[in-house]
Amino acid sequence: MTGQAEKVYLMHTYKRFPITIKHGKGARVWDEDGRCYLDFAAGIAVNVLGHNHPKLVNAIKSQAERTIHVSNLYWTEPQITLAKLLSTHSIGGKVFFANSGTEANEAALKIARKFGRSQDENKYRVISAHNSFHGRTYGALTATGQPKYQKPFEPLLEGFDYIEYNNVESLESKMSPDVCAVILEPIQGEGGIVPARREFLEAARRLCDKYDALLIFDEVQTGMGRTGKLFAHQHYDVTPDILTVAKGLGGGVPIGAVVANERADVLEPGDHGSTFGGNPLACAAGIVVLEELTSGALLRRVQEVSHHLWERLKELEETYETVVEVRGAGLMVGMELNESFNALEFATRALENGLLVTVSGKNTVRLLPPLIIDETDVDEAVEILEKVLRG
Ligand SMILES: *Cc1c(COP(=O)(O)O)cnc(C)c1O
Repeated sequence: MTGQAEKVYLMHTYKRFPITIKHGKGARVWDEDGRCYLDFAAGIAVNVLGHNHPKLVNAIKSQAERTIHVSNLYWTEPQITLAKLLSTHSIGGKVFFANSGTEANEAALKIARKFGRSQDENKYRVISAHNSFHGRTYGALTATGQPKYQKPFEPLLEGFDYIEYNNVESLESKMSPDVCAVILEPIQGEGGIVPARREFLEAARRLCDKYDALLIFDEVQTGMGRTGKLFAHQHYDVTPDILTVAKGLGGGVPIGAVVANERADVLEPGDHGSTFGGNPLACAAGIVVLEELTSGALLRRVQEVSHHLWERLKELEETYETVVEVRGAGLMVGMELNESFNALEFATRALENGLLVTVSGKNTVRLLPPLIIDETDVDEAVEILEKVLRG
């Protein structure tokens, strides 16, 4: 926020909070005036290991000294290692690397279309949920069931239908042999932190099997330990055919991935690709994040510390009229406010008091702290939330 350059040279694509962040350590960041903030935004669920994590920084440094990039014309060890880690700790099957969440979903949708059309030329319909969020590129944007993101960019892709989230009848009514895939978030993130009901995901699995369609879980936000398990669908015991991951995967280095089981392993040379996808620098970062998350200790800590966070937030919910509901799982938490307090205004007031949070849905304050926070950080954050609630 130093002068006019940001207005002259950057497109006005983001409503930004009025601070410039210079550096971070652990769960904290500092602005250019040296003010410290507790970071419960974590780059929107990206900085799972916090800022300046020594293992992550060292892995990136030493990979940069070897190769930053070589292209997918050649094999690299980091890409193979990360694929193996991701596959064995999720649904099994094969991995394609992209650079972001939306790109991971594009790949998933292309897989679904090829899977369907290789059986029947009419089998190309994709079902997604109202209020979902799958990204900003055309396929993912078409799957995103929110007209406010779609309208200015029409016409969108053909062959998409939208259902009511958590409504089994709504899903049933749109299923047919022409459906090639159903794409769902196990917890809707941008839609306001809305967890799926177990019956809903079970019905999605059953109906996809009945109509020979692929079930895609978009775990771009819910994945990478966010909910206390490596992937949110593991709480439900419902396994998708395709899993998409991004945000936290590189701990801050851009990377996305699709994991596809044997049924969905349909792509061949020429079908899809990415210049940067799975480059050694991003994969070296991803390896550190996955190793940390699968060592046992970190996920156990997420479960413990999130238990404390939930207890404290439930107190706020009981004490303050303004708090309508606290929703989510693990360290993916939404605090819906009533009409007396605008969530964006709330987030701005929190920032002024030294806490970074984001907003989602209609009027929900969203907490997505780094997974390395401790109980003291939770208490400090809740104190600030309470201060803002008291007004
Ligand atoms: C953020 C998000 C995306 C898009 O990811 P980008 O990296 O911004 O393209 C897709 N799906 C979900 C569930 C997300 O939360």
